[in-house]
Amino acid sequence: MRIVQKYGGSSMGSVERIGLVADRVARTHALGHAVVVVVSAMQGETDRLIKLAGRLSDRPRDREIDVLLATGEQVSIALLALALRERGVEARSFLGHQVRILTDSIHGSARIQTIDAAPVHDCLDKGEVVVVAGFQGVDQDGNITTLGRGGSDLSAVAMAAAIKADACEIYSDVDGIYTTDPNICAKARRIDRISCEEMLELASLGAKVLQARSVEFALKHKVAICCKSTFDESGGSWVLPDAGTLEGMDMAGLEGAVVTGVACDRNTARFSVSDIPNRPGAAAALFQPLADDAINVDVIIQTAPRDGRCELSFTVPKGSALRTRQLLDRLRPQMGFGAVTIDDNVAKVSIVGAGMRSQPGVALRAFQAMGQAGIDIQLISTSEIKISMVVDDRFTEAAVRVLHDAFALDRAGGGR
Ligand code: ADP
Ligand code: ASP
Ligand code: MG
Repeated sequence: MRIVQKYGGSSMGSVERIGLVADRVARTHALGHAVVVVVSAMQGETDRLIKLAGRLSDRPRDREIDVLLATGEQVSIALLALALRERGVEARSFLGHQVRILTDSIHGSARIQTIDAAPVHDCLDKGEVVVVAGFQGVDQDGNITTLGRGGSDLSAVAMAAAIKADACEIYSDVDGIYTTDPNICAKARRIDRISCEEMLELASLGAKVLQARSVEFALKHKVAICCKSTFDESGGSWVLPDAGTLEGMDMAGLEGAVVTGVACDRNTARFSVSDIPNRPGAAAALFQPLADDAINVDVIIQTAPRDGRCELSFTVPKGSALRTRQLLDRLRPQMGFGAVTIDDNVAKVSIVGAGMRSQPGVALRAFQAMGQAGIDIQLISTSEIKISMVVDDRFTEAAVRVLHDAFALDRAGGGR
């Protein structure tokens, strides 16, 4: 079989852990499989590099930031290839540009356009293990680009699609995808299989076990992902692009549940803009400069107008709060709105489930559970398959547990 295995920062935390990763890769290789390994930077390294750059510059999307961040993965591929060679396995490391992971030129969140798999196939044909740096690519002009936080997941899925791998295994410190973050809720239950659609929603809403864009890519290119633990042979969860992906697999588990999981995102800041003159185009005028600055505005609530004025509240990622404030300050004289308040001690807690589409009353149950637990909901947003609530960050973990309990997600057959 041709297998892509991805090991993230949580698996590459120390030299000892890299040794464990090498043992696992060597075992897979010894079984006769062709193995491509995609790795992330060692745990904490990308954060360290971002902080370092932040001391000299406040440009998050600069070309030079990508040159800097890509070094984390360069260290990892070399160390893993060395560890594999020590174990008698021929291994060769590749940077993003060497396997030509061609991307657009959007530094910090580049999109993969093509992968030239020829050098990978050459190595695999010789029986070598290929070790590829995740998270990075190269644009048409030869500039190094990075794919956004958690982007090694995307590199792995894209590599699996490019070499038509039989399996794409994503390894981390948890043995699969749970009904919620097992580090927050001890009652979280492992999900054997989940649809790409639901996983995409969970990932977008903060379940960082998979990067959202990697799931999007898997859905588009029909790659089945299996999430496993680096440190434990048992377990595993499948993310399936469509119901027919795995022959003979009982798909009953995908049906029936109304709520599949709970996610939370603590990287959230809430803005409230008061006394906005209520006229056509006001909301557009307010959000235009934010959009021009690529600020990701999320939950938006507008109150009904009173005396010709209304209030707008919305959330942005914490890292964009300062810039948002600057842009609003600049806009105030022109638009004539009132005070702008910011609260960056908030979090977004969400329930996700494809079954919500056909089931009324889910929101009510969630609100009742939050109410009974004394958790105040500040903002709400819903779609067909999710309900998100913005709460004070003090309540994040409690809210996750309360919602998990409210839908009995700890029980097999729960979520109904
Ligand atoms: P890596 O560094 O290997 O990429 P991550 O830290 O990005 O690993 O992802 C693994 C972490 O995801 C787990 O430690 C867990 O805390 C978190 N997580 C959040 N939501 C979930 C979930 N629903 N199921 C499993 N893990 C989750
Ligand atoms: N090292 C990068 C990050 O920390 C990519 C990844 O871990 O997937 O975001
Ligand atoms: Mg990750």
